[in-house]
Amino acid sequence: MAVYNPKSLRAEEFINDGEILETLEYAEKNKNNIELIDEILNKARPQKTESGTVCKGLTHREASVLLACDIPEKVEEIYRIAEEIKLSFYGNRIVMFAPLYLSNYCVNGCLYCPYHLKNKHIARKKLTQEEVRQEVIALQDMGHKRLAIEAGEDPVNNPIEYILDCIQTIYSVNHKNGAIRRVNVNIAATTVENYRKLKEAGIGTYILFQETYHKESYLKLHPTGPKHDYDYHTEAMDRAMEGGIDDVGLGVLFGLELYKYEFAGLIMHAEHLEAVHGVGPHTISVPRVKHADDIDPDVFDNSIPDEMFEKIIACIRLAVPYTGMIISTRESEEVRGKVLNLGISQISGASRTSVGGYTEEERPHDSEQFDVSDQRTLDEVVRWLMENGHIPSFCTACYREGRTGDRFMSLCKNGQILNCCHPNALMTLTEYLVDYASEETKKIGFELIGKELTKIPKDKVREIAVQNIEDIKASNRRDFRF
Ligand code: SF4
Ligand code: SF4
Repeated sequence: MAVYNPKSLRAEEFINDGEILETLEYAEKNKNNIELIDEILNKARPQKTESGTVCKGLTHREASVLLACDIPEKVEEIYRIAEEIKLSFYGNRIVMFAPLYLSNYCVNGCLYCPYHLKNKHIARKKLTQEEVRQEVIALQDMGHKRLAIEAGEDPVNNPIEYILDCIQTIYSVNHKNGAIRRVNVNIAATTVENYRKLKEAGIGTYILFQETYHKESYLKLHPTGPKHDYDYHTEAMDRAMEGGIDDVGLGVLFGLELYKYEFAGLIMHAEHLEAVHGVGPHTISVPRVKHADDIDPDVFDNSIPDEMFEKIIACIRLAVPYTGMIISTRESEEVRGKVLNLGISQISGASRTSVGGYTEEERPHDSEQFDVSDQRTLDEVVRWLMENGHIPSFCTACYREGRTGDRFMSLCKNGQILNCCHPNALMTLTEYLVDYASEETKKIGFELIGKELTKIPKDKVREIAVQNIEDIKASNRRDFRF
C-alpha cells in the first residue's frame, strides 16, 4: 500500500487515498472540538508583523476540520477570517478574464462534458488562425486583456503546434488600443517537452483541473482516451514545472465526488507543489458540474448546495491565503456576488463557452461546454462590481515584469505586491473606461478611481499613478504598470 509523502512525485503518494480517508475521519471526530477549532482559526487569522501582514495557512487536516464543523458561530468566524484575508492580500480588487475556446474536438470520454468523443450530435469546430484573430478582436473590443484558452485533447486536430500557433496569433493582434497581455492555457496533461514549448510561447498560468482526486471515481468518469490515466493527469503539474512553467492553476469539478474528499485532495496537491517546487499553485478554480448538451448534472449525485459551495471557498481561502481563486460564469450573479467577499480574486466576464462564440451573431448553444448562468455583458459586470464596492482590474503586470513563480510568491507573502496591484488596477480600469465603457459605467468608474487614488499610501507611487491616468485619458498611450 502506498504511503503518504507530499514530497514524492508519485500521484498515489502525494494524493494518498489512505491519508485522505484518515483526514476525513479526523475531521468528523473533531468537528465539535471547540478548543481545536479555535486553535485552527487563530492560526488562519492574518497576523500583523513588523514586515506587514502575514498568514500561516492551514494543513489539509486543519482545513478539513473547519469544513466539517457546522457550529454556526464558528462557521461565521470562518467567513469573517476569509474576508479579512481577502482584504489583506487582494483588497477590493477583482481581476477580470475571459475564456477562449479554440477547438472542441476531443478524443476523451469524460462523462460530464459534452465534448466527449461519443457525442455525435454536437457541432465540432476548430478555429482557423483567421478565426482566432476575429475572436481576439471581439474580445479586445469588449475590453479584455487576459484570456484563458481552452481546447479538447486531440493529437490530430489540436496538436501542440496548433495551440502554439494560436498563442502567437493572440499575442500578435492589436486592435485599436486593445491587446491581450496574458494568455493562460487550459489544455490536457502533456509532456515536459510540450510544457517547455508553452513556456517559450510566453504563456501565463498553465491550468489543469484535476476533476476528481478520487482515483476510483476518476477512472469511471474517464472511461476512455488518454485522460483515463489518473497518474499521468495528477502528476501533470510536476511535469509543467519541470518544463519551466512556474505558475500553475489547480481545480476540481465539484459535484463529481464527495466534496470533503475533493477538498482534502486539493489542499494536499497545493502542499505537494510547495514541498517539491517551493511554490504552491498560482490559482485554484472552483467549478461545479453544470447542465450542458448531453449532460444532466442531476445524474451526479454529489452536487453541492450554494451554502456549502460558499463554505468550501472560504475554507480554501484560509488554507492557501496566497493563491488566487477563480470563479467562472457557470455561477449565477447571486452566488458570484457572495463569494467575491470570501476570497475569490478573479472572475470571468461575458464568457462564451463555445468555439467561435464571440463572433457568432446569435449565442450558439449547440456547441457550448457548459451553460453560462451569468449572461451579462462585460460592461454590466464591471459596473456591478463597482456598485458592490470592488475594483475591476485588467492588470497583467506581474507576468510581464517577470514576477512569476517563487518571485511572485515572495512578494505576495511579504505583502509588497499590494504596492503594485492597487495602482495597476486603477490604471487598467482607466484604460477600460476610456476605451470601452458605457457612459454610466464611466461615471461610476471615474468617481471610484478618484477615491481609490487617495488610498495609495506612498506619495511617489500616487503621483506616478495620477500622471499615468491623466495620460491614458488624454492620449492613446496605454500599458502603464508598476
Ligand atoms: S473535459 Fe476536456 S478532455 Fe474531457 S471531454 Fe471535455 S474537452 Fe475533452
Ligand atoms: S500586480 Fe501582479 S498580482 Fe497584482 S493584480 Fe497585477 S498581475 Fe495580479
